[in-house]
Amino acid sequence: MILILKANIDHGGKDYQRLVQQLAQLENVKTSEHQVTGEQQSLTEIYLLGDTQSLDINDMQQLPGVERVVRISDEYRILGRHKDDKRVSGFDYNGVRFDQQSLNIFAGLCAVDNEEHVDIMMQALQDLGQVCTRMGAYKPRTSPYSFQGHGAACLPFVFEQAGRHDIKVIAMEITHESHIDEINEALEKTGQPTGVMLQIGTRNTQNFELLKCVGRQKVFPVLLKRGFGITLEESLNAAEYLASEGNSKVVFGLRGMKTNMGDPHRNFVDFAHVPVIKRLTRMPVCIDPSHSVGSRDTAPDNILDVMHITAQGIIAGANMVLVDFHPAPSKALVDGPQALLLDELEYLLKDTGIAYKAYQDRVKLAKQRR
Ligand code: PEP
Ligand code: MN
Repeated sequence: MILILKANIDHGGKDYQRLVQQLAQLENVKTSEHQVTGEQQSLTEIYLLGDTQSLDINDMQQLPGVERVVRISDEYRILGRHKDDKRVSGFDYNGVRFDQQSLNIFAGLCAVDNEEHVDIMMQALQDLGQVCTRMGAYKPRTSPYSFQGHGAACLPFVFEQAGRHDIKVIAMEITHESHIDEINEALEKTGQPTGVMLQIGTRNTQNFELLKCVGRQKVFPVLLKRGFGITLEESLNAAEYLASEGNSKVVFGLRGMKTNMGDPHRNFVDFAHVPVIKRLTRMPVCIDPSHSVGSRDTAPDNILDVMHITAQGIIAGANMVLVDFHPAPSKALVDGPQALLLDELEYLLKDTGIAYKAYQDRVKLAKQRR
């Protein structure tokens, strides 16, 4: 059960104090408090966990400071979209809105190789008014002999360049909890020039200890990629780990499933699950067409497969696109063959704009029928 408190309730005030006292008297019920920051206001939600079946929803509604009560099912308690649930969803981070209506493009380097390429990439983004990017510093690689990413060493110049080019949010994968401290330190040292969205890669979707650490920090929002060989339900439960530890600023990422049924694509494109995730949860949904397709193959209509499936995801309601670019793909240290070229950035933005407009028109059409 979730108690949604009155907007901007005073935590030092009488109502709040009385509420806390009354909740403490409930037997076999634990409480956990979460702040939800919406577009207009900040809300406090109190989760009642444990023996809540016998609690009467009307009684709970009468408690001091309570605005609304939602009874939740066991599944995806915090991130789930429960019946009759009109709770706010999404979040703002560093001036950028993430929710189930918005669309943000994160074009950038799969792996940071050198400062020059970071500069060229970010300049191209800035020229086209983009404020988000992806920059890989910690790379989980199949072979121990492959380039593992520059790690903490590249963070200062990546963050400084981001500040210089007005980048507000960088999606950056981490593979160990110590990386959170390294990112924090580098941001501090460089004067907080940008924001970071911590990315949990598909190989770590069920690294529960990492999820708990990332969930305990509330500074950075999180992009959790779906595990490439587990069910959707298992991956959504992984997202719930983050929220249950306190961080519900979570974007859920689809990046294709590992099976040879997807050949010749690198992974089997699973963007048909965009509307499913939006129905089951309140998370914004990200698609990663680069790691799904894995190549620059082009269809006879001259459209790259990467662009085709990006459009498919967006026309189905995707809210974020994580896409690999590189100024010189043949020199890229990771995933060069799937990288788009910088002179394709403007084209990608136009193409995604068409798909997004089509999605919005489809939503309008569906509304007219109701
Ligand atoms: C990535 O985005 O660079 C990446 C490694 O993705 P995934 O975890 O989906 O393989
Ligand atoms: Mn990659």
